Amino acid sequence: MLYNTLTRKKEVFAPLKNNIVRAYFCGPTVQDSPHIGHARAFIAFDILVRYLKFRGYKVFFIRNVTDIDDKIIEKAKKENVTPFEIAHRYYLEFLHAADALKLLHPNIEPFATGHIPEIIELIKKLIDKGFAYTTKSGDVYFDVLKFKEYGKLSGQRISELKAGARIKPGEEKKNPIDFALWKAAKPGEPSWPSPWGRGRPGWHIECSAMTMKYLGETIDIHGGGADLIFPHHENEIAQSEAATGKPFARFWFHVGLLRMRGDKMSKSLGNIVPIFEALRRYDHETIRLWAINTHYRKPIDFYWDLLENTEKILDDMYSSLFLAEQQLETEHKTTESLNDFNERLRDFIAEFKKAMNDDLNTPKALGILRDFTEFLKSNLNRLSKSQIETAIKEIRELGWVLGILQMSLEERIQEKRRRGKDISTIVPPNYIESGDIKPFLDLIIAVRNELRKRKIFDLADSIRERLKQMGIALEDSKEGTKWRIKK
Ligand SMILES: [Zn+2]
Repeated sequence: MLYNTLTRKKEVFAPLKNNIVRAYFCGPTVQDSPHIGHARAFIAFDILVRYLKFRGYKVFFIRNVTDIDDKIIEKAKKENVTPFEIAHRYYLEFLHAADALKLLHPNIEPFATGHIPEIIELIKKLIDKGFAYTTKSGDVYFDVLKFKEYGKLSGQRISELKAGARIKPGEEKKNPIDFALWKAAKPGEPSWPSPWGRGRPGWHIECSAMTMKYLGETIDIHGGGADLIFPHHENEIAQSEAATGKPFARFWFHVGLLRMRGDKMSKSLGNIVPIFEALRRYDHETIRLWAINTHYRKPIDFYWDLLENTEKILDDMYSSLFLAEQQLETEHKTTESLNDFNERLRDFIAEFKKAMNDDLNTPKALGILRDFTEFLKSNLNRLSKSQIETAIKEIRELGWVLGILQMSLEERIQEKRRRGKDISTIVPPNYIESGDIKPFLDLIIAVRNELRKRKIFDLADSIRERLKQMGIALEDSKEGTKWRIKK
């Protein structure tokens, strides 16, 4: 079951064609550094894609890049550079952030400026069908009143919209609620030739044109932040359905907004947290866990203490996992095995799926995964080796759906050290890192070599034997003596 903004209820989801889910997520407008509000939305899309894949669907999904827009042009003017330079700079930042958060790569990442011919074709079609009109100055507007179902996504009424809308100076709209499909070129702005003179596309039309180009006229899922429901997605529906006469997207998936201690995050309040600032302090799995600990449709709060607590939850799960993995590597002495193990395992997996099937209830799914790691830890001495192996594999697989618990002990230690954090919360007892014991081992080896030189072999051999018992192997060769920790 997936909540559909269009019908305002949870519906059973299955793709329209074959086993392939066709999805489109509105990507970034590359005008500034990505912030944690973006991270939250993109993590939600990512988990939807991961879960669909986990359930055996093929997912073909697109995340576009809006690389021409009023704000990009404004910023470029301020910095006295071209809008393309601004777009490129923040696109690269977005890409780095997306990779750092381990978001799955979209199948295609189309840019608005790379699809001007497709956009022009679509606008032409809308004019031909009588849904759009041109103005003297070379703008093209969508005639909202011609599309009878306008407002069906956001629940807005035309009469109310009209009451709140004004025609700005210089606009030649028939109706204040009409929106621009094509904007006539202004001096110094990027522009492309079109049947209506030089200009550039409006924001909404790019998504319709690129969706149809790569995914067809009716797609399975269209997603974005809740702030895009109106006007962006409402307008996408109007122009797409007016052009094709077919439903544009079957499911509309919207992610709730971010609150900074109850406030909106905004430039004017000066409380914007860039993704890289969050990543400097916390690893990507902590940030992901913060995002999934709130249901994707609800508003999410952000403050630093919240991330601190989130990291503790993650470390708790990791410490159980690492303890179990250590148990496998050292000798696992138990000959016992838990009788109802398979049943328990099945229950955890079934409960996890049940939570995720219920409109991606990630907080609940996370709770089940926590119980699963707790179960593993508290039953370590009663589980057989292969049971421990199976449990670890399953926990890591379910973790993959949420994008957490994917690190090895060494990777986790590295992530924490890089941020100057305490690692004692995650390392299993008796864990030795080669860095810690190196000076001592070098000393012991030097003493042993001296003993051998003086032909006191029995003592030299006993040192080697004692080290072996501790799990440290010595290898003598012409180049000297090397040591390694045996796993
Ligand atoms: Zn869009």
